[in-house]
Amino acid sequence: MINEAATPPGPRRVLIIGSGPTAMGVLHRLFQLSESGAISPDSFKVQLVERESEVGGLARTITDEAGFSWDLGVHVTGLSKYPEFLSGLTTLFLIEPLHVG
Ligand SMILES: Cc1cc2nc3c(=O)[nH]c(=O)nc-3n(C[C@H](O)[C@H](O)[C@H](O)COP(=O)(O)OP(=O)(O)OC[C@H]3O[C@@H](n4cnc5c(N)ncnc54)[C@H](O)[C@@H]3O)c2cc1C
Repeated sequence: MINEAATPPGPRRVLIIGSGPTAMGVLHRLFQLSESGAISPDSFKVQLVERESEVGGLARTITDEAGFSWDLGVHVTGLSKYPEFLSGLTTLFLIEPLHVG
């Protein structure tokens, strides 16, 4: 629970550590809430910090000196029973989930 009396005035500060898929999900949700009018875009200020020189976390592909590409982690997404997750994928990454069968 937020103690309103102890909350300083002005926009709430949101600090996101890392820029992997989880961070993208948080940003997407904040954008959705803002777009729908549930929260005002002026009511929060987001700062994202990433220790690497590139964004994406484990959802990155790196290319070595020989030109080979290496996927660090997540590159395959299975079917999900969470419509919110699938909707996030399609709108964030402009891809359509693969329907098998
Ligand atoms: C080999 C491998 C294969 C995988 N394959 C799949 C797959 O096919 N499908 C699937 O759904 N999932 C897969 N996963 C799991 C998937 O990669 C993770 O679930 C997903 O990346 C988690 O996202 P995340 O944003 O929480 O963390 P991460 O992707 O790890 O991102 C964390 C980010 O935070 C940054 N960070 C960490 N600490 C700090 C700090 N102190 N300050 C600033 N920045 C910081 C990191 O540099 C990184 O960019 C795989 C994982 C591995 C290891």
